[in-house]
Amino acid sequence: MSNYKINTKCVQGGYTPTNGEPRQIPIIQSTTFKYDTSEDMGKLFDLEAAGYFYSRLQNPTCDMVAAKIAELEGGAAAMLTASGQSANFFAMFNICESGDHMIASSSIYGGTFNLIAVTMKKMGIETTFVSPDCTEEELAAAFKDNTKLVFGETIANPALTVLDIEKFAKVAHEHGVPLIIDNTFPTPVNCRPIEWGADIVTHSTTKYMDGHGSAVGGAVIDSGNFDWMAHKEKFPGLCTPDESYHGLTYAEKFGQGGAFITKCTAQLMRDLGCKQSPNDAFILNLGLESLHVRMARHVENGQACAEFLNSHDKITKVSYSGLKGDKYYELGQKYLPNGGCGVVSFELKGGRAEAEKFMKALKLIAIETHVADARSCCLNPATSTHRQLTDEQLKDAGIPAGLVRLSCGLEDKEDLIKDLEQALATI
Ligand SMILES: *Cc1c(COP(=O)(O)O)cnc(C)c1O
Repeated sequence: MSNYKINTKCVQGGYTPTNGEPRQIPIIQSTTFKYDTSEDMGKLFDLEAAGYFYSRLQNPTCDMVAAKIAELEGGAAAMLTASGQSANFFAMFNICESGDHMIASSSIYGGTFNLIAVTMKKMGIETTFVSPDCTEEELAAAFKDNTKLVFGETIANPALTVLDIEKFAKVAHEHGVPLIIDNTFPTPVNCRPIEWGADIVTHSTTKYMDGHGSAVGGAVIDSGNFDWMAHKEKFPGLCTPDESYHGLTYAEKFGQGGAFITKCTAQLMRDLGCKQSPNDAFILNLGLESLHVRMARHVENGQACAEFLNSHDKITKVSYSGLKGDKYYELGQKYLPNGGCGVVSFELKGGRAEAEKFMKALKLIAIETHVADARSCCLNPATSTHRQLTDEQLKDAGIPAGLVRLSCGLEDKEDLIKDLEQALATI
């Protein structure tokens, strides 16, 4: 599939049936797999042979969909996880351990912020947050001897900052560590971070990839470009023997393109079990088949709503990288030439109270803790997804209390604008 364009990969990637096989990917709804001898199965347990033995670790349906996502991102290998949260946790914890340090953009999804700042901190992993707009020097200054990775979001949820991936990758690589990019909002249709130097890409497939609000899921993709063995001392988990697999060393046995996902599956999925179900993977794949068609419409609707809101006198600020004059317009032109996504953030003149009143008046656009599906929805992050953050942290994350995050779905843009217009008239 690698010679085909991304639109073709969306439809046919990851699975090529042979003579007489099902045209659509089969749902292998089986926890376990049968073997003729214990010896055959033993080889799987020892990672001496590839194959399936228990669906907590790997399942054929999930692997077909992961293979499609790897092709879409231009990666060497990928795995599905139960959620975007577990995808980000796995990607980071596959590299870091207790006593290590990470650097993350401060402009990230609230759930990821809690994961890093609270839960992973309890596990002994400290994080320094940097502005997504920091200079190379400021980013370099955040490094410590025990820094093991840098993390950011292509388009941050919900602040909609656009990350200068090339710059972050350069500084990370100068310090001998990988860059992890959460590419949930643009999807590989609109940006492929690996082409800009990212080493690992993550997704909440719950968003545009599924795209219908049907299945929670995540994915981790390895570019295969990071040379773990060249920085052996930093990455003992990948570069020294794993006692839980008879002393096998991932980076040696599976090479640059195989080590990361194999370790993530064999250790983290084995021990933590954050797996996606085959049924959900099937639903995700249905979404992927139309991802390229849907993203274009999400962008068209996002752009139209952003332009309408930007010209409205009750709105003080609109954030959308497709808007000329937006702080991230230039970075958007570079990384997102076909547009970013359908999510638009804006601030109402009256702040939090007016935001609540406005949202109540919407008829077509629903209030939901969700973004990025076919049906338009909106949310006030300060009172929902980001309510654990202090006012100071909200400010750092670029989320004022009166911010409304609007996710433009696939409806007719004229109907969306009419709905926004009538709700604005009520305040
Ligand atoms: C939603 C989201 C997540 C978390 O994903 P879940 O599937 O809800 O666990 C992570 N990163 C970003 C950018 C998100 O939008």
